[in-house]
Amino acid sequence: MATNSLVDFNTLSPKFRELYAKAKDFVENECIPAEKVFAAQMGQGENRWKVIPPVLEELKVKARSIGLWNLFLGREYGNFGAGLTNVEYGLLAELSGRSSLAPESWNCSAPDTGNMEVFAKYGTPAQQERWLKPLLDGKIRSAFAMTEPAVASSDATNIETNIRREGNEYVINGRKWWISGAGDPRCAVYLVMGKSDAENSNRHKQQSLVIVPADTPGINVVRPMQVFGFDDAPEGHCEITFTDVRVPVENIVLGEGRGFEVIQGRLGPGRIHHCMRCIGKAERALELMIARVTDPSRRTFGKGLAEHGTIVADIATSRIEIDQARFLVLSAARKIDEVKAKGAKKEISMAKIAVPTMLLNVVDRAMQAYGAAGISQDTPLAGFFVRARTLRYADGPDEVHRNQLGKTELRRAAEIVEKMKQQKEKSDQLVAKL
Ligand SMILES: Cc1cc2nc3c(=O)[nH]c(=O)nc-3n(C[C@H](O)[C@H](O)[C@H](O)COP(=O)(O)OP(=O)(O)OC[C@H]3O[C@@H](n4cnc5c(N)ncnc54)[C@H](O)[C@@H]3O)c2cc1C
Repeated sequence: MATNSLVDFNTLSPKFRELYAKAKDFVENECIPAEKVFAAQMGQGENRWKVIPPVLEELKVKARSIGLWNLFLGREYGNFGAGLTNVEYGLLAELSGRSSLAPESWNCSAPDTGNMEVFAKYGTPAQQERWLKPLLDGKIRSAFAMTEPAVASSDATNIETNIRREGNEYVINGRKWWISGAGDPRCAVYLVMGKSDAENSNRHKQQSLVIVPADTPGINVVRPMQVFGFDDAPEGHCEITFTDVRVPVENIVLGEGRGFEVIQGRLGPGRIHHCMRCIGKAERALELMIARVTDPSRRTFGKGLAEHGTIVADIATSRIEIDQARFLVLSAARKIDEVKAKGAKKEISMAKIAVPTMLLNVVDRAMQAYGAAGISQDTPLAGFFVRARTLRYADGPDEVHRNQLGKTELRRAAEIVEKMKQQKEKSDQLVAKL
């Protein structure tokens, strides 16, 4: 099977290879041609937040009928998902990253994936019946509400939304923003992170996560935020206020004070799902660049664009960077398969830091080679660029991951210093004998 990846496909099961071939065909021949249809079917004005382009539901039906559904839920989730390894899912997610329509048509798009993992991992049978089932079925969508405008939210201990128990209910008050998916008319449920015990001396036990149906009184979706002018309708990234929002105590996830535990569990493999899709976007950007610079009608200063040395070098650099990034992502996926996300923190951080920046660089070169068309609505490049930029914040800014990674490396200091001391002693002895 022709592939650019570092995985020997012959070592993967025939069943997986068949799935991979179907996925590749689906992305290239169904999703990519449908992208312009999706754009044409998008509602205008207020309808941007009311109309789901019908082509998306058609793609979902087709994808599901050929087994491309809930692929992100691995073996540990039993019958809930497809039972793939993270390496297998990584290879498929790379394909899905090539088209903005593929992840949702496979029911594998954020933030639903992470939310489904929360329900599957920590939900009670009643919570799973009410929310996980329709999510797995692609009937509803969901949002994860943590970030707040008033505090630096990359440190989740700062979160201020108040969750107060009153009898058999929790009462929620706070303001969130950048809540992805909350603009979508199909978004039926939010997972809301807030403080239920602000005085707890352990600052990681102050938070709880509660399930809030999106139609609960007291919720106000104030506005969709824009990313460089893109509103990402119909999903959106919304600012939302919660004013005396009441939910039954049964809506707590895992238990009071265990919100941190849940978000840690939610963001393991989820972080590299984005990275996997970035590799696919980078491959498509490079393909677009190659097609453009070899177009015989694009000539400057007596040469075809592909005859200029700088463009050839840019293509080479992009090829190297994509393959380096793929190596990091697949190595993180393999480590998660071997020792679960908790044991793969270092590899996940490396991928999370390196891959979005790689995508920005590869897309930037492709946009440059395209000329002004590269930053227009006529290619997917501008959308790829903007999404890659947001990934340098989403699920934790680069600096936070770099800080963690650097500290992990520094923990080796004592061992390194001891080794160097022994080397010096040996070297001194050898020199003394001269
Ligand atoms: C498109 C998009 C979608 C999003 N979707 C969601 C969502 O669905 N749900 C949700 O809850 N949130 C979402 N977010 C929010 C995102 O998770 C936050 O923006 C992110 O966690 C950073 O928080 P902040 O914006 O409050 O930045 P701050 O916490 O104010 O941080 C600002 C900057 O400080 C620097 N910094 C922080 N810590 C360190 C450190 N240790 N060392 C050095 N520098 C540091 C970093 O450069 C960081 O960017 C989304 C954001 C975007 C852009």
